[in-house]
Amino acid sequence: MKRKIAILGATGSVGKSTLDLVERHPERFEVVAVTAGSNASALAENARRTGAKLAVVADRSRLAELEALLAGTSCTAAAGEAALIEAASGEAELVIAAIVGCAGLRPVMAAVDAGKTVALANKEALVTAGELMTRAARESGATLLPIDSEHNAIFQCLAGNRIDDVVRIILTASGGPFRTASAETIAAATPAQACAHPNWSMGAKISVDSATMMNKGLELIEAYYLFGLPSERIDVLVHPQSVVHSLVEFVDGSVLAQLGAPDMRIPIAYALGWPERIETPAQRLDLAAIARLDFEAADLRRFPALRLAREALEAGGAAPIMLNAANEAAVAGFLAGRLRFPQIAQCVEQALSHDDYAAPRSIDDVLEIDRATRSRVEALMTERCA
Ligand code: NAD
Ligand code: MG
Repeated sequence: MKRKIAILGATGSVGKSTLDLVERHPERFEVVAVTAGSNASALAENARRTGAKLAVVADRSRLAELEALLAGTSCTAAAGEAALIEAASGEAELVIAAIVGCAGLRPVMAAVDAGKTVALANKEALVTAGELMTRAARESGATLLPIDSEHNAIFQCLAGNRIDDVVRIILTASGGPFRTASAETIAAATPAQACAHPNWSMGAKISVDSATMMNKGLELIEAYYLFGLPSERIDVLVHPQSVVHSLVEFVDGSVLAQLGAPDMRIPIAYALGWPERIETPAQRLDLAAIARLDFEAADLRRFPALRLAREALEAGGAAPIMLNAANEAAVAGFLAGRLRFPQIAQCVEQALSHDDYAAPRSIDDVLEIDRATRSRVEALMTERCA
């Protein structure tokens, strides 16, 4: 029996890697739904290639274009959030959550509420609604499988072990393109420099997050919700080669790690095949050729985003939502040339000083805090540019 899968964010970096794997294993998977933000032509191409029955574009103004592109196929074209939710909670057993940012939240929650197996790349959904989402998963019986390479590594290391025997987990970080740069160089960084990741090829938003190290900060919070360990038992370790994808230390002093080429198809394949493993075309690890693996502590002075994320995690409540929303808005501002690189973290820090919110009790609460924080950051950016 083929597994029916829905790919949310099929046109993005993770979405494309997922499609590549699915097409290499036609006997295992049937793609039933694909979604995209606004790129109707790439989405239609995906739908035609996979034979998906439903293609959803989030941006309603692209529906007519999508319909025209899918004319003569048996694929239904749809648009808007309700249709994204339908793609996430409909026929698929396995939902690949690869939308970027908080935009993925409602569709991911819909998949969780429907008791699906959810392979989660969309870390912002877990950062902003971790409590609500993990509770909903317990209630519905949904399974969350991490695709983010670090969390996937930890998940692999935990297999066959008891979480009670874990002393700490250690998230590795490449350090991004500015790992060895001076504070002055970092201050002058352009979007092109910030997006030029040394090891991974990814979407623009996560590439900037890697450059600020906010990505690792979001991953701290992601790890907290996925594995249920407190902040002080989740460490970050800079490892420039991105070969050791994360580690788990146990009570007996053993440390397990997962290693592999920096290719997202490896963690995606683990989630697709779980509990089995499936073949990937990823380069095999040649440790003799790599010769050395380096590790160093993270520098919180040059990368304040990491400190801010840990503070948000420890503050709890609405803080991770504000952290994420301010970061999404500030990264968009930086990519649009409205902010300088260090101002991303400054905007986040300012947004976090607003502590009027109660902990969210619903996704509506999360989205309201998200919206209000974005508009505050928007006002800050307008002020700075004026
Ligand atoms: P990307 O920008 O390449 O792709 C994003 C996808 O989301 C696209 O399909 C896009 O059409 C869709 N999308 C964008 N805005 C949308 C909206 N408003 N509504 C609905 N859909 C929308 O991003 P990516 O690099 O593939 O990352 C996707 C997610 O996976 C992110 O949360 C990222 O943090 C996470 N992730 C990515 C990588 C990686 O290697 N790229 C690794 C780990 C985790
Ligand atoms: Mg990661």
